[in-house]
Amino acid sequence: MGPSMPPPYDPAVLAPVEGAIPQPPGSSRTRPDACPGALTLHQAADGLLARIRVPGGVLSATALIGLAELSAELGDGRLELTSRANLQLRGLDATAATELATRLQTLGLLPSLAHERVRNILGSPLSGLDGLGQADTIDLVQSLDRELCANVRLAELPGRFLFGVDDGRGDIAAAATDVTLIAISASKIRLWPGDFAVDASHAVTVALALAEAFLDERNTQTDPAGQAAWRIADLVDGPRLVARRALHRLRARGIQALPSEPALGVLAGFAPEAPLALGVAEQRNGLHSLTVQIPLGRLLPEQAQVLAEISGRRGIRITPWRSIVATDVADPVTAAESAHDAGLGTEDSSPWLGVTACAGRPGCAKALADVQHDARAVAMATRTAAASTSLPVHWSGCSRRCGRPAGASVDVLATASGYQVSDGEGRTHQAAGVAELASTVEALRRG
Ligand code: SF4
Repeated sequence: MGPSMPPPYDPAVLAPVEGAIPQPPGSSRTRPDACPGALTLHQAADGLLARIRVPGGVLSATALIGLAELSAELGDGRLELTSRANLQLRGLDATAATELATRLQTLGLLPSLAHERVRNILGSPLSGLDGLGQADTIDLVQSLDRELCANVRLAELPGRFLFGVDDGRGDIAAAATDVTLIAISASKIRLWPGDFAVDASHAVTVALALAEAFLDERNTQTDPAGQAAWRIADLVDGPRLVARRALHRLRARGIQALPSEPALGVLAGFAPEAPLALGVAEQRNGLHSLTVQIPLGRLLPEQAQVLAEISGRRGIRITPWRSIVATDVADPVTAAESAHDAGLGTEDSSPWLGVTACAGRPGCAKALADVQHDARAVAMATRTAAASTSLPVHWSGCSRRCGRPAGASVDVLATASGYQVSDGEGRTHQAAGVAELASTVEALRRG
């Protein structure tokens, strides 16, 4: 997959705004936002589902243990990792809702009830740990989250609206976020849409101005059914119009937002969205990080316990690639052994690397198969595959293909008579049974 580059610099975006910008006539949204949250639970076939936002994927060991206990007591015992580095609890019943909210507040995971579904912030998982990137952007993520929660109007953002904070290494810049902040240095941040370059002290203000500008613009554009956009990309000419409105706001506040220099070297570092390497890495402070793959993105209570025990002061970082980084690990050899023994993927030859699956049966009523079970069986049967050099593979219980990763991947789709396996380049096979599926999937993943 090629990097999802921000739009090229467009001077028109930053041209003086002529005339009055049309003012929003009021919300024209007709369909309620169905995005699940911690308070707005989603009815799935296996019970209610709660999605807990974890801005930047940053979570303390205490909160991780608290969530694992919550899932064991109120749900099915697992913590489900999403492609936005959030966590989900499944199998809840309606009587659990109040207890869930109360305990999430105690854990510090519900700082604003009104904003709980809009705290969608991806962050570079290794920022401030390995010395790469242009700056440590964890404080920027936390500041963005705080100010987002303090902005009453931004509680109106759709649950799908996504911020991304990249520390300059290009891992999050390559993801399809609505508002992207990229560290050029410790004191300069570049933002899209609009290609603004601002002092770091103004970065949050500019990011929130872009989000407010999206709300303004979405109220001027609706589809034929009267439905407003959920994302900037859903708007006609969205990035340019949102940037124009944001610029208008910023000038009114006296904030100077200048176009970036297109030739800035940091752009050359943008990489395609790709999983982090698994295993131990040295940190700048002499301690280590340990990145582990969570099999099919489902973390069991005993695995959560291991990660909480081996991580140090800065806890864990959940990544958008269904992996978790344990930070400030004091004894990396023992930690890696413990994680491996708990069933987590600790090296790039792990059979779990690059394997994802939707909920499938019994979690989803639309599913034609228990894709979690079948993906697990096939992953175990192909455990000698060189997974790190293979295409990702995604298993889907129906043609909606929920959770399918962006970019090239092998598509395994449940059908009435088995699975259809295709690589997106015209090679499609029908397969059934673990052995046949394993050989077919492995051949397509190797290209
Ligand atoms: S892809 Fe289909 S079966 Fe899987 S979770 Fe989505 S709707 Fe359900």
